[in-house]
Amino acid sequence: MGVDGVEDLIRVAGLARQRAERIIGLARMFIEGRLGDWICRLGVEEARRLLLSIKGVGEKTADLVLLMYCRLPAFPIDTHIRRVSSRISIGGSYSTIRRSFLEVLNDVEELIAVHVKLISIGRLFCKPKRPRCSECPLRECCSYAAERGGDSCSKKGG
Ligand code: SF4
Repeated sequence: MGVDGVEDLIRVAGLARQRAERIIGLARMFIEGRLGDWICRLGVEEARRLLLSIKGVGEKTADLVLLMYCRLPAFPIDTHIRRVSSRISIGGSYSTIRRSFLEVLNDVEELIAVHVKLISIGRLFCKPKRPRCSECPLRECCSYAAERGGDSCSKKGG
């Protein structure tokens, strides 16, 4: 199909040329055996290093592959999780937030559940502007909500 053909198919996603080149590069790696199921057997750290060495693969994508595909303990942080985390006082760099969750959760199913729920909370309640704190399931433990007058763990000493 070539880069032009792939670019036509994914144009709606934006950055189509760059993404088409990367998709073809990844497909080539699969065909040549430089990527495949076997990476999941390397363990988290080595598999992560390998994924991050691939052009176009960043921390979030690497962690998504590790958690959702390989079923290894990883924690991908997207823009929603970053925003919710910072508002509930788990802020900082990607690696700081990631480490905070991995320190308390090491069961893969639990990590997936928390990952998915935080994204939903970010989409439904914790919007960048005007978060809907009164409806949010995290409101009792949220410092951002507490500062704005809601109930919070800190107010209850929890
Ligand atoms: S209580 Fe408000 S600020 Fe805190 S996580 Fe929920 S929506 Fe976001």
